[in-house]
Amino acid sequence: MTDLLLRDGRPWMPGQPLDTADLLLRDGRIAQIGANLEAAGVETLDLDGALVLPGFVDTHCHLDKTLWSGPWVPNTGGRSLAGRIANGENRRAELGIPRADYSAALLATMIAGGTAHVRSHIDIDPSVGLAGVEAVRTAAERHRGRVDVELVAFPQGGLVRRPGTAELLDEALSGGVEVVGGIDPAGFDGDPTGQLDIIFGLAERHGAKIDIHLHDGGSLGAWEFELIIERTKATGLGGRVTISHAYAMGALPADEQRRIADRLAEAGVAMVTCAVGDAPVVPLRVMHAAGATLALGNDGIRDLWTPYGDGDMLRRIGTVAFRDRLLADEEIELALTAGTLGGARVLGLTDHGIGVGGRADLVTVDAATPAAAVVGVPTRKLVLKGGRVVARDGQLAD
Ligand SMILES: [Zn+2]
Repeated sequence: MTDLLLRDGRPWMPGQPLDTADLLLRDGRIAQIGANLEAAGVETLDLDGALVLPGFVDTHCHLDKTLWSGPWVPNTGGRSLAGRIANGENRRAELGIPRADYSAALLATMIAGGTAHVRSHIDIDPSVGLAGVEAVRTAAERHRGRVDVELVAFPQGGLVRRPGTAELLDEALSGGVEVVGGIDPAGFDGDPTGQLDIIFGLAERHGAKIDIHLHDGGSLGAWEFELIIERTKATGLGGRVTISHAYAMGALPADEQRRIADRLAEAGVAMVTCAVGDAPVVPLRVMHAAGATLALGNDGIRDLWTPYGDGDMLRRIGTVAFRDRLLADEEIELALTAGTLGGARVLGLTDHGIGVGGRADLVTVDAATPAAAVVGVPTRKLVLKGGRVVARDGQLAD
């Protein structure tokens, strides 16, 4: 492992002044931060006052579904959840997805944009089986050392209503998939208790984490938050359970949002928001005030669900900040925190972030402040993973 001295950067460490400092990277970690560091024989890179951010964490995407780098495919998904799910399944074979080449091409773009960690949901059902797991594992292997990829065994087509899927999730988890997924236990699967029985049972049996897509809105969605919180407390899985999208949260009255955020924090249940379309965003200020974990992700990126998306987490952080109407610098930094340190908490990474001993997963940009970086989305000058430069000026380094 090559050591590296980064000269004259401005490391972002929330709560501390944005002072110019050197960072000494040794064995993939940050060994020292300070002024005028000396390290004989160590290669030096001059940052010229660039802002230094922790690597971005894309906590919610769908690498198996993407058509990235392939021919343009006009969207035929329609606007209903059930219709989009059916369209996604029906056109997979024709378009040759999941496909490792597409997933790998998208990962390359994500890495060049500064993403260090990815959690990808992978569709599993009796028709596609575990093909998505294989394809995305192949893609991640091509980028080993540039990005870490965690997989979610995701029953996109339903769990209770789709016989054979639970057995496939079990098989995926036996094969090392780290997280068990779920989808609208009430609104789509029609049996909230039944779906949560399966998911929490699998998580306990395999030591897996949980990440449930929850699009259900209004009082139905809010009721499902409570179900998941109660299950988490009953099973002792606090810190390992995530509710993705949680659209109901963004649309509830403010006092109800605060009450639920307190409950999430107490139970150790996180939320992930992606600012998809016009769907409500989980309120960042409320989650922060409660001390509840919030992370961000790109969700679908140029796939059968949406023609949009570019895999750029810094742009997504800015989109979330815009949608949640974060205006003051310290508010905008809440989005940056969610897109870096919040994601790390969801993934269970204890050494992510800029500090002595932390993993040297870093991004440098020319921007006056972290808020200016979120709003301006500047080119990533350097992307480092484990202390090694993996991208420069928006392009993979090798
Ligand atoms: Zn999703």
